[in-house]
Amino acid sequence: MAVPVALIRQLCYPSGYRLPKLTRLEYKWKPAEAAKPYSVALARVNPTPMQGNLPNDEYRFFVGKYEKTWMASTCRWCGSLFHNVDGRKRHKDAKCKEKLTRLYARILPNKRCVACNAVTTREYWGLPFCSVVCENTWRFTEPPVFRSYLDREKKQLEAERLFREANAKVD
Ligand SMILES: [Zn+2]
Ligand SMILES: [Zn+2]
Repeated sequence: MAVPVALIRQLCYPSGYRLPKLTRLEYKWKPAEAAKPYSVALARVNPTPMQGNLPNDEYRFFVGKYEKTWMASTCRWCGSLFHNVDGRKRHKDAKCKEKLTRLYARILPNKRCVACNAVTTREYWGLPFCSVVCENTWRFTEPPVFRSYLDREKKQLEAERLFREANAKVD
């Protein structure tokens, strides 16, 4: 974009003083060289395991970030956000891991990838995954296929809780 010389003159040319000859200012927009492609898109095409910001085991129960320097991770069951190892460890009390482990045990025999729903016999983190690409997707996102398992499981647990409550009242 070129800023009109007349405009600059109007804004900052002091009366009576001679200033150096004005030149046109050119601003050229350049994409930041450090900008990285969107992590999820990158994960979808990467055929080698991507490390991301969590120890590999932790992706079983937490969604991590592709950027290694980012601290954030979220619980796959309740969506709580954590910024360090301690936070994730303290989250044990919430029993989310137990609920997820029970759910994973039910998903595994389906032999359908939890990221893309393709039929597969591969498994990782105790879940069916058709490929490393899908494992990468899992590391940094909550795939819609898994989301639907999760929603169904939560509805089921809620129904069981209501049933127990109703029975408790009868007694
Ligand atoms: Zn949780
Ligand atoms: Zn898959």
